[in-house]
Amino acid sequence: MESELLRQQDAFFQSGATRSLAFRLQQLRSLLNAVQTHEQAVLDALQADLHKSPTEAYSTEIAPVTAEIRHALRHLAAWMRPRRQPTPLLHFPAVSRIIPEPYGRTLIFAPWNYPFHLLFAPLVGAVAAGNCVIVKPSELAPHTEAVTLRILAEAFDPRHVAAVSGGPEIAGELLKQRFDKIFFTGSPAVGKIVLRAAAEHLTPVTLELGGKSPCLVDATVPLDVAARRIAWGKFFNAGQTCIAPDFLLVERRIQEPLINALRAALSEMYGSQPQESPDYARIINDRHFERLSGLMDPARVVHGGQTLPAERYIAPTLLAPVSPEDAVMQEEIFGPLLPILTYDTVEEALELLRRYPNPLAFYFFTQDRALRQRLLETVAFGGGCQNDTLVQVSSHSLPFGGRGQSGMGAYHGKHSFLAFSHQKSVIQRALWIDFAFRYPPFRVPLRWL
Ligand code: NAD
Repeated sequence: MESELLRQQDAFFQSGATRSLAFRLQQLRSLLNAVQTHEQAVLDALQADLHKSPTEAYSTEIAPVTAEIRHALRHLAAWMRPRRQPTPLLHFPAVSRIIPEPYGRTLIFAPWNYPFHLLFAPLVGAVAAGNCVIVKPSELAPHTEAVTLRILAEAFDPRHVAAVSGGPEIAGELLKQRFDKIFFTGSPAVGKIVLRAAAEHLTPVTLELGGKSPCLVDATVPLDVAARRIAWGKFFNAGQTCIAPDFLLVERRIQEPLINALRAALSEMYGSQPQESPDYARIINDRHFERLSGLMDPARVVHGGQTLPAERYIAPTLLAPVSPEDAVMQEEIFGPLLPILTYDTVEEALELLRRYPNPLAFYFFTQDRALRQRLLETVAFGGGCQNDTLVQVSSHSLPFGGRGQSGMGAYHGKHSFLAFSHQKSVIQRALWIDFAFRYPPFRVPLRWL
């Protein structure tokens, strides 16, 4: 049974209201306006939900969204234009075009870790592509959910874009309805539920999932810089980042110096008492706090390890030596625990990497060109960086997405527009000439074909 909201959105879409460039630009401007108006409320909500510092919240939640909107405003006219393509000689005279078309009724699910960014960034693509949208914010970040609802209500007519709030039950109800495109960000387990439900209606799906993203470090890099960039990427949002380095794979002879460099980087960033740092986030809820505490084997803690259950605080923690058999290596960590594994030969490192499903991200710190080439050719992953962490996510020109267990499809910049568009291929033929040889009875010798 279709909901009243979906019926209204369907009628709105069928009316053609979302088709024009002018409408889409106006809606994107309206969204930009509403986001800017509620900027402080968004920062407060992220502080309340995750103890995100205003700087971190602004740079990873608000700025990426406003940048996506501005990028779309600048390029949308070009993205929407039908693209002329070459026509095979056989079909001459003719003109071939690809016409990007909105899917129609779309559904976006957001997770709780970047609850603002990961809802609004795909929404920009959906609106730019001319769709109607229902968004389902994460119920686990309730303050951000509340301000999200306010922004959406202010920016959009609900027949065009509306939010439905609730947990798995409501999400399940939504998934029973027929959408023309579903965009899901979340865990691989729920991703499977979404894909199964979408199969019922043969709805195309983009899945932005997670996994264990490895970070390899060899002895050719300056360890102080590597340690700063790793600690920054891992302990941002207290490790609750889908593309955070999940574990380190370190050339054995630099294990000790790298641990020392990581300790130094952590104390520069968060001081000797990270629970007092305004820049260090908290774990989202008690369930995740307990799960993470359970993964912390005290015998392996070489730095950190302290917890404050009342605040859901877990110190930035280094674990070493860790083996692939340890509990912390059996699931995506999604928290501030950094296991350190070692390797002696590149073969050994590659063999370990092959044990895990394709990760969303892969990082490698090396100045060895041959190793870089080998890693790029042999490790399958969504996206990543050489000599840094996380920064691949902030480029409009790089499609962001996983492969295999870490997802399917991609977005950001023009790729978001494409994720929410069907590419309609059309050949426009001329009528002034018509060759008889194409029609039966066929007389053309096979060797001419
Ligand atoms: P989650 O899968 O639990 O929830 C995501 C969304 O699905 C939420 O809106 C939630 O309400 C909904 N949901 C939960 N259970 C459901 C069910 N049974 N049926 C239908 N919908 C349901 O994920 P999460 O805990 O919010 O986020 C953490 C996960 O997301 C991690 O695995 C992380 O790596 C991944 N993630 C991926 C990206 C990415 O861009 N690839 C970004 C952030 C997080």
